[in-house]
Amino acid sequence: MKNCLFCKIVAGTIPSSKVYEDDKILAFKDINPQAPVHVLVIPKTHIASVDEISEENSGIIAYIFENIPQIAKIAGLKNGYRVISNCGPDACQTVPHLHFHIVGGAPLADKMA
Ligand code: 5GP
Ligand code: ZN
Repeated sequence: MKNCLFCKIVAGTIPSSKVYEDDKILAFKDINPQAPVHVLVIPKTHIASVDEISEENSGIIAYIFENIPQIAKIAGLKNGYRVISNCGPDACQTVPHLHFHIVGGAPLADKMA
């Protein structure tokens, strides 16, 4: 989608530090890491947020989660991690292209919000 930051990262017009890529998904390091390891996993097709997941496009969501264990391994996570997706204004979603944060590499806060 034109003017979508993460679509531009998929297209390569904005550079990213890639952790994993195949024909359907891309994982790259967050530019402003909130933990020692902070990777974003996105579908290459534009889906705005979790709120846009439907029966028609949910195959890519399953595919992302099938790949998260190996992405976590590639990122060096050995002792667990948190998977987060912020959806909409109350959750402070800042980039309207569906992404899953994988954070870890140290003990995280025991509260999520
Ligand atoms: P959200 O707030 O939407 O859940 O997460 C968006 C994430 O994208 C933030 O953690 C932010 O640091 C990251 N981010 C924003 N712009 C860029 C960028 O240009 N490159 C990378 N690698 N991460 C970005
Ligand atoms: Zn997009």
